[in-house]
Amino acid sequence: MKPHVIALDQGTTSSRAIVFTETGDIAALAQQPFEQIYPRPGWVEHDPMVILYTQLESLSEAYRKSGLTAGDIAAVGITNQRETTIVWDRNTGRPVYNAIVWQCRRTAPLCEQLRARGLEGPVREKTGLLIDAYFSATKIRWILDNVPGARERAERGELLFGTVDSWLIWNLTGRRVHVTDYSNASRTMLFDIRRLRWDEDLCRELGIPMAMLPQPVPNAWDYGTLAPGFPGLEELAGVPICGAAGDQQAALLGQGCIRPGDSKNTYGTGCFTMMNTGTEPPRSDHGLLSCVAWSIRDQVSYCLEGSVFNAGSTVQWLRDELKLIQTAGETEALAESVPDNGGVYLVSAFTGLGAPYWDMYARGLMVGLTRGTTRAHIARAALEGIAYQVKDLIDAMEQDAGAPLQGLRVDGGASVNRFLLQFQADILRRTIDRPRMVETTAMGAAFLAGLHTGVWKNLEDIARIRLSDAVFVPRMEAEQAEACCRRWHEAVRRAGAWE
Ligand code: ADP
Repeated sequence: MKPHVIALDQGTTSSRAIVFTETGDIAALAQQPFEQIYPRPGWVEHDPMVILYTQLESLSEAYRKSGLTAGDIAAVGITNQRETTIVWDRNTGRPVYNAIVWQCRRTAPLCEQLRARGLEGPVREKTGLLIDAYFSATKIRWILDNVPGARERAERGELLFGTVDSWLIWNLTGRRVHVTDYSNASRTMLFDIRRLRWDEDLCRELGIPMAMLPQPVPNAWDYGTLAPGFPGLEELAGVPICGAAGDQQAALLGQGCIRPGDSKNTYGTGCFTMMNTGTEPPRSDHGLLSCVAWSIRDQVSYCLEGSVFNAGSTVQWLRDELKLIQTAGETEALAESVPDNGGVYLVSAFTGLGAPYWDMYARGLMVGLTRGTTRAHIARAALEGIAYQVKDLIDAMEQDAGAPLQGLRVDGGASVNRFLLQFQADILRRTIDRPRMVETTAMGAAFLAGLHTGVWKNLEDIARIRLSDAVFVPRMEAEQAEACCRRWHEAVRRAGAWE
């Protein structure tokens, strides 16, 4: 039997396992959703034991469904929700608190204090990040400050910290291996992305004992082997874990974005945009984040990352609040039913605007309404608004990276919308490419594990596995695209500083 690779895809709302063939096809898939815990407004937690059990169960179910034997499995790769923070007792394996999820805003006041102490510069310089409650550092600090006895136990070396990759690897290897991969480490706000090690000064500033931290290691690596004793996984004991990466970085690799300038955009509730910037960490003048993309065979690649806060959620808003449509998919035919937007622009700044505008006080607006405006124009303006925000983000990335965008590769729930992708191509003036394999995140984790075990030879080899499903080329005249973008920027200006 040809070798297979299993990807564990530990996401924010579900744990999944996918068995991939050598040709990058799915042999089996299993998924377990789990509970979101909202103890207070703005707080989000997961139960770390539930994360572990749902992941183990989906692994055993996918393996069983595949009908393979352990000898057919070359390796396991892991990809995960990033930044989510778990602190546990190294002796008992018990978490001392729930996992504090990346979305959780409880440490926003602590971030204000760090800014007031002038840490923005060093954080940016060393970690490539902006000070924000998303990242793990202030979440660890919160646990140390708020769980009775946690700080003393951490200082005595009894407690371990990990992002979800770390937590899974520690458990899967029978509590032996405490590591994290560079891409996940680069989202903690404690990791020096140039030297590829924890930054002592930042740990001191944040009051985080370094003894808690996992060892940072490359993304394609011998992480250890699956320990015996997990129910339903007895046969898989001894299978090596050979790949790990945070979800967005995994998707970048899964999309075959292996060269500088290669970029992907995920059109989900929000958009996550990432550009491979090559072997040097990029500096951003536009408030984008620089991260490690991956380290494979001693070669480190970096990336720029930005996000659009409200993308698919704009379509949900049309459906659930305005009741203009019944399903998200209807927007495509509606948008195509009119020859143009009728002069209507919709800026979905529901929660402010992120990079490159950075206006937390912006609020949404619709402008250009006339007595002839129909719901088709509004649906079209909503989709166009998503594409304009992605274009502005990518323009900023190109300037920061000092390198032109190669084509844009796309995925996510809203990437099924052909109107959206055609319009994106029209205003970006680049080719938009949607892959056949939409499970790009899991694919990336599988690629890392398979590269390390020789299932695939090199990056070129894996880039060839990715096949296009649809390609969209610019059809609109360049001049017209420019005129549209000017109108859009005027609409964004008007949405600004509203609250
Ligand atoms: P997430 O992973 O962020 O939950 P998904 O990748 O599953 O999101 O994408 C879901 C989003 O995509 C929803 O916000 C939905 O409104 C939007 N969406 C789904 N199908 C379409 C479509 N055909 N056209 C436009 N938007 C869509």
